[in-house]
Amino acid sequence: MGFPTCKLSFTDSERFEPKLIDVLEEKWGDLAESIGVSGCVAQCSRPATRAIGWVGSGYELYMLKLGGTTDGRHQGEPLIDYETGEVYLYQVPAGEVWKVCDALIEFYVKYRGPEEVDGSMGYFFRRVGTRKVIEWLKSHPKTRHLMAPKKVQSKLLGYAELRRARESLQSSPQSGRTSVAPSTLSHA
Ligand code: SF4
Repeated sequence: MGFPTCKLSFTDSERFEPKLIDVLEEKWGDLAESIGVSGCVAQCSRPATRAIGWVGSGYELYMLKLGGTTDGRHQGEPLIDYETGEVYLYQVPAGEVWKVCDALIEFYVKYRGPEEVDGSMGYFFRRVGTRKVIEWLKSHPKTRHLMAPKKVQSKLLGYAELRRARESLQSSPQSGRTSVAPSTLSHA
C-alpha cells in the first residue's frame, strides 16, 4: 500500500502504481504485461511475481525486480550482473521509474520471439538473461544515466548463487535455450 495507508512504508505505491501504468499505456496501449509496486521490502503486494516489479527501497526510491511470472512459477530478481557481482537499479528515483519500464517494454516488443505472446514478458527477461537486459539499459538514451553499478550486497548474494546455478543448467547442451546476441541489440 505504501504512503499514506501503511505505517511501515518507505514510499508510495498505492497511488504511484496507477499513475505509472497510465503513463506507460499512453504509449503502449492497454498493457497485457504485469507491473507491480510495493511500498517497502515486505512486498505484501508481491511485486516480484510480476514481469516488472518495483520494491520501495527508500523515500521515493524503488528497486527493480525483473522476470517474475504471474503463473507463480518464477519470482523476479534484482538486476544483477552475475559475472561482475554488480547490482543495478537498486534505488531508482520515482520520477525515473517509468523510463526504465518504457525501455524494458521496448526491449521486449523488439526482441520477443514468435512464441512470446502477450503476457510473456517475464519469461522473455528470463530467457535473454540479465546481462543482455543490463547491456540494453546501459545503451538506452532514457536509462543509461541510471546504470551506475553497485557491488552486490551480502543479502543479495543468494540470488547470485541461485542464478549462477540456473544459468549453468540452461547453457548445458540439453537445454535447447537461445538468447539475443549482443550484436543484435539496437535502439533504432
Ligand atoms: S509492502 Fe506491506 S508493509 Fe510494506 S508498505 Fe506495502 S503494505 Fe506496508
